[in-house]
Amino acid sequence: MTTTTVAVAGGSLGGLTAALLLRDLGHDVTIYERSAVELEQRGAGIGFLPDSSRYLIERVGLSLDDISTSIGIIRYFDRRGGITHELRHRYHFSSWNTVYRHLLSAFGRDRYLLGREVVGRDEHDDHVTVRFAGGASVDADLLVCADGVGSTFRRQLMPDVRHQYAGYVGWRGMARESDLHPDTVRQLGDAISYYVYANSHILVYPIPGLDGSVVPGERLINFVWYRNYLDGDDIGDLLLDVGGVQREISLPPGAVRPEHAAELRATAVARLPAVLSDVVVAVDEPFLQVVYDVEIPQMAFGRTCLVGDAGFVARPHAAAGTAKAAANAWALADALAANPDIPQALAAWEPGQLALGRQLLERTQRLGARSQFLGTWDPTDPDVLFRLREEGP
Ligand SMILES: Cc1cc2nc3c(=O)[nH]c(=O)nc-3n(C[C@H](O)[C@H](O)[C@H](O)COP(=O)(O)OP(=O)(O)OC[C@H]3O[C@@H](n4cnc5c(N)ncnc54)[C@H](O)[C@@H]3O)c2cc1C
Repeated sequence: MTTTTVAVAGGSLGGLTAALLLRDLGHDVTIYERSAVELEQRGAGIGFLPDSSRYLIERVGLSLDDISTSIGIIRYFDRRGGITHELRHRYHFSSWNTVYRHLLSAFGRDRYLLGREVVGRDEHDDHVTVRFAGGASVDADLLVCADGVGSTFRRQLMPDVRHQYAGYVGWRGMARESDLHPDTVRQLGDAISYYVYANSHILVYPIPGLDGSVVPGERLINFVWYRNYLDGDDIGDLLLDVGGVQREISLPPGAVRPEHAAELRATAVARLPAVLSDVVVAVDEPFLQVVYDVEIPQMAFGRTCLVGDAGFVARPHAAAGTAKAAANAWALADALAANPDIPQALAAWEPGQLALGRQLLERTQRLGARSQFLGTWDPTDPDVLFRLREEGP
């Protein structure tokens, strides 16, 4: 096997998984991450689908039960807290921090370079030159762009591709299980809890605590509440942060203006069953992510490829964003193992990844339309279950 020099732009879950898998093949891999500090601030929950946990289980040797919470029931409430539908189904949930910490520790910090913003690339026949803010550059045989939803490379390589605002945001937050009333904890039980009402829905589930603990009582209770905002002034006002900066993609913890946080809590009490509004009200710093669709026609460009949210961005209703990033990375490693010629390997990798992204995008668009606009969400329809692929997990 020839040793290939790989530059990975972006050191979040997608970039780390790709980097680990390519290094396992014997390649010489360096991650360039824009953030000057390790990405510890995002504690939010992630649906832990098999693709998301695969590296940590198969290659690091961790056990699913050590790095994720598990629930065995999907439960729907009505406004008064009565149960309208219940289904036995097993999901695992982890937190962004837990997965990041384990992947980073497996990769090590020597070749995980912080404060390195990649700003461009020049493609040559036998290498690609990766350019950084500040003027430095490196040459690599392969550039993996894992620079997320706002990807610099997606913008440069496909300037016509636009973020399509879905018409709503995902409000998110985590409360300490120990801060909730014991009755609330008991009612939430071993379940993911839903409340679906006119043009909105909320889901609540346990995730590991900030220290990674999955012991009941030490966990966090995570909520994701999808709420509609009109395009233009309505969403614009929401996204004007506490410091007066107009954001576009998300408001991190601490950035939401107090009047919007107060409105969130008041609406929770007015609209949601008490068992779920108790969780929303207990969260100190709610934050939000704007829901976008990004569809792309191409993921391989000579010696450069896009993985994870740098490629397709699908709505979160399948809880599969991290799984898609990981699946892109595993397929990339398989393609490079099968063919050391990088442009040929990327060309062989691309069609399956385009198909994966498209089906996830279409399915999550359907789900979002049903819950946020059409009022046709059906808890008995298997389509509403979390999964990456149309069929299977
Ligand atoms: C409301 C909501 C709920 C979600 N829930 C789930 C869920 O339950 N399960 C799930 O799997 N997914 C979920 N997701 C999706 C998930 O967050 C993403 O799909 C996943 O994090 C993608 O990972 P990534 O590595 O591709 O990109 P990101 O995590 O966005 O990382 C990109 C990285 O690149 C860095 N970067 C950016 N630009 C540059 C540059 N120019 N140079 C160098 N570095 C750069 C960034 O600092 C960042 O570290 C949810 C998303 C939303 C909006």
